[in-house]
Amino acid sequence: MYDLQKIRNDFPILGREVYGRPLVYFDNGATTQKPRSVVEAMTNEYLNVNANVHRGVHFLSQQATDLHEQARETVRRFINASSVSEVIFTRGTTESINLVASSFGQAFIKDGDEIIITAMEHHSNIVPWQLLQSRVEVKLRVCPVSDDGRLDLDALARLFTSRTRLVACTAVSNVLGTVNPIADIVRMAHAHDVPVLVDAAQSTPHMAVDVQSLDCDFLAFSGHKVYGPTGIGVLYGKERWLDRMPPYMGGGEMIGKVSFEHTTFNVLPYKFEAGTPDYVATTGLACALDYVSALGFDAIGSHERSLTAYARQQLSQIPGMRFFGPSDDAVISFLVGDIHHLDLGTLLDRLGIAVRTGHHCAEPLMHRLGIEGTVRASFALYNTFEEVDLFIAALQRVVAMF
Ligand code: PLP
Repeated sequence: MYDLQKIRNDFPILGREVYGRPLVYFDNGATTQKPRSVVEAMTNEYLNVNANVHRGVHFLSQQATDLHEQARETVRRFINASSVSEVIFTRGTTESINLVASSFGQAFIKDGDEIIITAMEHHSNIVPWQLLQSRVEVKLRVCPVSDDGRLDLDALARLFTSRTRLVACTAVSNVLGTVNPIADIVRMAHAHDVPVLVDAAQSTPHMAVDVQSLDCDFLAFSGHKVYGPTGIGVLYGKERWLDRMPPYMGGGEMIGKVSFEHTTFNVLPYKFEAGTPDYVATTGLACALDYVSALGFDAIGSHERSLTAYARQQLSQIPGMRFFGPSDDAVISFLVGDIHHLDLGTLLDRLGIAVRTGHHCAEPLMHRLGIEGTVRASFALYNTFEEVDLFIAALQRVVAMF
């Protein structure tokens, strides 16, 4: 039983009003709201447990360390990694991808090598590779996107050469709502002995992830997009790659022995975790993952898919409606006639509807689509059909003004 009212009661913010109207929060692709259990677990840790992890012999430090390492085990279970050594805590998807670009780049990418990305990547899966270009002459090869918002897999197959060193691809487009066939892409890349990094920022909130069955080599996601706190995320990496990659940052925690002449490094995953980690956020993240796991992705996915289909069907009744992408997942990007996306978003806001407008950190995709930006409604496990009705009514009002 998917008890939506009970779920909504877990998210106090959903009960608030904006401009005297009930809030309709459809900006979940940017960040999700937090259940009370996440906030309470973090508050409890600050009020009753707080001490720095890993280095203390005293009671609180050990308790904080236990919570932190239990959180790592929760993440391991959530993504079905084979070992906690493969679970690195970062600040989020962006840092996870930068870590791979920097460290994998240093170990495995030489002048003349190539990396394959796609035309639907978020800037955080484009710019780190461009930064790498300032150190080595690595070529970015870009898999094209079709007019209906899907990857052209035949074109992708043709991009592989003997110099391809990595494929970095999003699991779900934050603009188009396209769910990419990651397992097929991994198989294609592995046939060329090329590892694959999956940007799972937009998939982890909506569908189960199993890194062993996907067989991906790296996977990145952000806590705040999956009902957890900001400032915490995960990089999963296969041990056989991580072992051969140099540290990303230097400092405490990531060392074995230090002298002025020579430093040795800690074992995985600590080799990649310099400095005091956000151990309170890891507790919050674990709590959020437990929350979605208890509901189950079958139930979450089925609710979100019917909500998305209903919203898209209702939107399609509005004259001048133009959709961008297939909305396989809980994301709908659209424009209405030639009304500017910013005007639509601003006026919707005044009616209590929170949507996102603009290029959604995917400017190259906007160029491909020949537009400057879209309005994006993105749904979460707590959104309702009544909220969709409010959204549609508000949009009809806004459109009528033009
Ligand atoms: N990748 C995708 C597909 C995203 O949608 C986002 C955020 O919107 C990111 C990466 C970056 O996530 P973060 O800002 O949490 O690092």
